[in-house]
Amino acid sequence: AHLARIDATDEKVHAFLHVDREGALAQARAVDAKRAAGEKLGPLAGVPLALKDIFTTVGVPTTVGSKILEGWIPPYDATLTRKLKEADVVILGKTNMDEFAMGSSTENSAYGPTGNPWDLTKIPGGSGGGSAAALAAFQAPLAIGTDTGGSIRQPAAVTGTVGVKPTYGGVSRYGMVAFSSSLDQGGPCARTVLDAALLHEVIAGHDPLDSTSIDAPVPPVVEAARNGSVAGMRVGVVKQFRGEGYQAGVVQRFDESVELLKELGAEIVELDCPSFDLAMAAYYLIAPSECSSNLARFDAMRYGLRVGDDGTKSAEEVTALTREAGFGDEVKRRIILGTYALSSGYYDAYYGSAQKVRTLISKDFEKSFEQVDVIVSPTTPTTAFAIGERTDDPLAMYLADLCTIPTNLAGNSAMSLPCGLAPEDGLPVGLQIIAPAMKDDRLYKVGAAVE
Ligand code: GLN
Repeated sequence: AHLARIDATDEKVHAFLHVDREGALAQARAVDAKRAAGEKLGPLAGVPLALKDIFTTVGVPTTVGSKILEGWIPPYDATLTRKLKEADVVILGKTNMDEFAMGSSTENSAYGPTGNPWDLTKIPGGSGGGSAAALAAFQAPLAIGTDTGGSIRQPAAVTGTVGVKPTYGGVSRYGMVAFSSSLDQGGPCARTVLDAALLHEVIAGHDPLDSTSIDAPVPPVVEAARNGSVAGMRVGVVKQFRGEGYQAGVVQRFDESVELLKELGAEIVELDCPSFDLAMAAYYLIAPSECSSNLARFDAMRYGLRVGDDGTKSAEEVTALTREAGFGDEVKRRIILGTYALSSGYYDAYYGSAQKVRTLISKDFEKSFEQVDVIVSPTTPTTAFAIGERTDDPLAMYLADLCTIPTNLAGNSAMSLPCGLAPEDGLPVGLQIIAPAMKDDRLYKVGAAVE
């Protein structure tokens, strides 16, 4: 049924880069056979899922939305892919994304944009726009995203779906193509809070193959999602997450959510986090710096595309020609920014200062979580904007992540869930809930209460 739904809608939506029809049907049949034989089934047996094209899948193309990996078939599964298979999930295919997860609209994909199912002329968010659109178009009930600065939560917000960035280190990064390793985090996307929790539990947990994976029990997210409540909780509202640039309908729905939290028995606490105003600047030094280093591996020798290899050119020339042809504008912009920020003479002024700001942000969160159990904010300052509207203005594009970036820099956990439609355009608004590291269960407890 989901494959039929994809056939009927994906020409317009373009959520998928690759539909693995054969693989999905084989997995579904294997589940049926297990069931018929009375064998023990995985916790998500037979549930279809849309996988962001940033996770390696053995035998199935993985492009990361880039021409540079066109035609590359990974020889191994990401830990997350393996866990999905072990849970008997049916992987429908790989979803569209901004190239190397750099973007907020999926327009930076080398394979063309994805439409927002609420209005196909609008962006579905990014970088995980394909996964969010697949959920909103009812092509899949579950999806996987990755969140470096907001790429799970911002697409969830603008498509009226649920997305969770787990605590950094909560879900393995092994086999997840690296953008900014100290920020990247895979996580669950779904249409309800409980669905997200069921998926979260399957993909989370310690992995010896990822050196930053946390070796501790997975927070009890499913139990929390089944027992939603905010009674007696202290909920923080950060002064810095409103003001200029925030759409009126977004602020209205957010304020109504805060009222609802009060009605349900939460105590609202005003918080001041001055360092959050610097988060965007710090992120756009740290993320490009790490990207410039991570993307050095695309050298035309190891994977995918190779341009100009005609026997007359040096290896350096082939590498340069391949990177010139294989990377899009935004990826090149980030590599240049990052290389500059890390260069000798500038390193302390740029990268060093950004790391200091990162520490200040962590401290502001620590101070806040001494006073409150969770923090709430709008997920994004505006609803979905039009395709093409911000493509010539990188700074306007970057502003989509104003409220999501501080969480990545600090490494704690956050969720976006729908909180109504903006009256002025009828498009979904996202409510963000932020919890301390390894307290991901609180997101689900609060999310299930206000859903
Ligand atoms: N939009 C942000 C960026 O372009 C975040 C992307 C992400 O979370 N992968 O870097």
